[in-house]
Amino acid sequence: MADPTQSLLYYIEDIPKAELHIHIEGTLEPELMFKLAERNGIKLEGTVSSHKDRRQTFKNLQDFLDLYYEACSVLKEEEDFFDLMNAYLQKAAHDSVLVAEIFFDPQTHTERGVPFETVINGLHRGLCHGYQHYNIKGSLILCFLRHLSEDEAIKTLKEAMPHLDKIIGVGLDSGEVGNPPEKFEKVFSMARDLGLQVVAHAGEEGGPEYITGALDCLKAKRIDHGVQCLSSDELVSSLVARKIPLTVCPLSNIKLQVASRYFNGASPVKQLLDKGLLVTINSDDPAYFGGYINANFVQAVKDCKLTAKDVFNICRNAFNATFLPLVEKEYYLSCLNRFNVESGFAAPPKSVAIFGSRQPAPGTPQYEMARKLAGMFASRGYQVASGGYNGIMKAASHGANDEGGLSLGVLSPRTFRSRNPIGNEYVSKTMLSLSFSSRTSDLIETSEYLIAFPGKMGTFTEIIVSWSHWVGRSERNYPAKKLYIYREPLGTLFQDVVKRLGVSDAEIEHVILFDSLDEVLEGVERDFEERKKKAVF
Ligand SMILES: [Zn+2]
Repeated sequence: MADPTQSLLYYIEDIPKAELHIHIEGTLEPELMFKLAERNGIKLEGTVSSHKDRRQTFKNLQDFLDLYYEACSVLKEEEDFFDLMNAYLQKAAHDSVLVAEIFFDPQTHTERGVPFETVINGLHRGLCHGYQHYNIKGSLILCFLRHLSEDEAIKTLKEAMPHLDKIIGVGLDSGEVGNPPEKFEKVFSMARDLGLQVVAHAGEEGGPEYITGALDCLKAKRIDHGVQCLSSDELVSSLVARKIPLTVCPLSNIKLQVASRYFNGASPVKQLLDKGLLVTINSDDPAYFGGYINANFVQAVKDCKLTAKDVFNICRNAFNATFLPLVEKEYYLSCLNRFNVESGFAAPPKSVAIFGSRQPAPGTPQYEMARKLAGMFASRGYQVASGGYNGIMKAASHGANDEGGLSLGVLSPRTFRSRNPIGNEYVSKTMLSLSFSSRTSDLIETSEYLIAFPGKMGTFTEIIVSWSHWVGRSERNYPAKKLYIYREPLGTLFQDVVKRLGVSDAEIEHVILFDSLDEVLEGVERDFEERKKKAVF
């Protein structure tokens, strides 16, 4: 078992993720369990640490489920479900999760006398809070407990009817063996008629026939676990041909002895990937299995010697396997690609941003200098971005236009109401920002190399925000965006500020003052070639 390199560990931690196999009840940590028990006047046996010990090993799925249902007894009020969701989303945000399609087991609660509304309203409110505060797009999948009857599942689906706007789909979980998918054919058909998506746990402990049943009888779009497909070549071929995603959970497979009982202690992830299956990695019941999604990635990378490319493909599979509309999927896939550039694993796009005063008119030395530099970059295939209005911004668009290159204008019509809402006449494409401050960061995000010509407070703000882009990247050893500042007056001013504040050389390594256009062009081209050489994508 080789340890992954530090750079691969950072890559795993930071890459944007979608989590598709997570039971919200399985995120109930002993600390929160005791807090909720106290709030609800429930006496629990043992202590936080004895409960942590009890979660160390399980003989099989049923052994775990017994403990899991017992822990759920502390969840009674809407606020408890909100707190449970909030605690998970905080952890997920830390693990760079951007999308989470989350299972909940209403029957675990309704059979204890907790109303369905209490459960769903608390969880839904938690999701709304998470979207606003942690930028995680979360949704709920209602799971039927397969050890109960289909009639009870139908009763639960009926209880869910007034809340269909809070649920995207249905799933099937709990003890698999002896409870085949066919038992729930009718309730899944009813759910599909209501427009709900369908997933199902299958092939965790049950054989390949459980997977076939979930696909053919329940019409599942994703298979949760599904690792037992490896015992049937025919099923593997069918899953590959039908592009059925598998939501695999490496730590769960270890803790519930799936790996030891069925795969000689090895992780099935590598075999699944080698066969071309759409593997995703998830945490299942992280409060019981020793780690959240990043820990599951690290385990799989260690066990299967996965590379950054494998990790990337698994994350891409997950976003593709979400039930999001295509437009949103494309957005999250673009976040993945952007992350590859940001982390230095992919070569940067050829892109420069030019900042400067909005005063200089065509024909003035400053305007013509910025126009010339933009032309030099455009003729070498760089996109030239700017604020898209007049002065140096227009010179940048003009120069790119002279060479038939792309000129991006990052505009903010809501901030600059008296300016041309579509930017200057040389802008070839536009991007709109909501405010002055977001426009500055949007402009910096669009480009890998940042160049500041003379200007006033607006340009100085852009310089400072450009400088700050480096914060956080350096500790990961990610490449910093190089910032070129024309020496007079802003370059010298920047130097004075740095000196007076005692800023260290390491903190301004990515800032270069320039006197001639050739210095900028050569510096950018050299840096670009170096980054291209280091890239693995
Ligand atoms: Zn599960």
